[in-house]
Amino acid sequence: MYAIVTGSAGFIGSHVSERLLAQGFDVHGVDCLTPYYDPDVKRGNLRELEANDRFTSVEADLRTADLEELIDGADVVYHLAAQPGVRGSWADGFQRYVEHNVLATQRLLEAARTTDLSRLVYASSSSVYGNAERYPCQESDEPSPHSPYGVTKMSAEHLCRAYADNFGLETVSLRYFTVYGPRQRPEMAASRLIESALTGEPFPLFGDGSAVRDFTYVGDIARATVDAGLADVPAGEVMNVGGGAPVSVAQLIDLVAEATGHEVPVDQHGASPGDVQRTGGDTSRVGEVLEWEPHTDLAEGVRRQVQAQSHELALA
Ligand code: NAD
Repeated sequence: MYAIVTGSAGFIGSHVSERLLAQGFDVHGVDCLTPYYDPDVKRGNLRELEANDRFTSVEADLRTADLEELIDGADVVYHLAAQPGVRGSWADGFQRYVEHNVLATQRLLEAARTTDLSRLVYASSSSVYGNAERYPCQESDEPSPHSPYGVTKMSAEHLCRAYADNFGLETVSLRYFTVYGPRQRPEMAASRLIESALTGEPFPLFGDGSAVRDFTYVGDIARATVDAGLADVPAGEVMNVGGGAPVSVAQLIDLVAEATGHEVPVDQHGASPGDVQRTGGDTSRVGEVLEWEPHTDLAEGVRRQVQAQSHELALA
């Protein structure tokens, strides 16, 4: 099997690539190393992958590259490339989100429909739900994104469904819930909390710590993602992938303090526009279709992330 992974140098894309290699795939990674966070961190994410001779990669931008040529011969495309993050998606930032998340996805789908690809897996997000009326959210609930970022993720998901309905393109969208673990993006909460605990730099807390997130370990996300490329799933399917045990940010702070052995210095700010109060996903569908369930609980996952980040800090 030959897979293309877009966003392969990113946090989740590098884990998905690693898992694909472990399952015997040949993998071709595509990433343009956007400057959203340090491109050297992304190059570092690729290092171990590049040691495997079944992994090749190219620095290319999905907004402009010849995508038919890029995905030629692939059995499965895992589309993880995107401009992530809620806060930067307001004001002038929106254009970047539309380009990387919507227009790039549309170009990829156009290219995919001319090939004999067996599946395109799209990395969607719990952000499509916004502040939901009931929890845990089900895939059939009316989406109501609370941020421009969520709007772009929803739009790309709708595009996947439209290409499935009109052209029979085998797309599957997975709505990931707050992903954490080794190599997490440096601006995300767990990563910043661990850094604050280890260095004493204050953690900028937006809100009062009561916001609840359905944290999901990256290894569990990578397993669902790889399996979604292989399983017998109806074209256009959408599935939640969430850890299933939502906790508050305040509880996460305690877990980080426990795992590092250091209190986290906190610098409190007002709530940030676009942040929802709560996320939580019903995972019965992914359980049924992929026989997926989370394997790593939050305490264990945080310990693994602390170990990885401590190692990186020691090297820096
Ligand atoms: P990330 O920023 O670490 O990875 C995304 C990668 O895509 C980056 O390396 C970036 O350089 C690349 N990229 C962006 N635009 C590109 C383009 N036009 N052409 C080629 N490469 C491009 O982010 P992540 O946290 O690993 O997220 C991966 C995917 O999962 C994204 O689609 C994101 O929206 C989705 N997601 C993430 C989370 C989470 O908690 N991390 C939650 C829900 C959904």
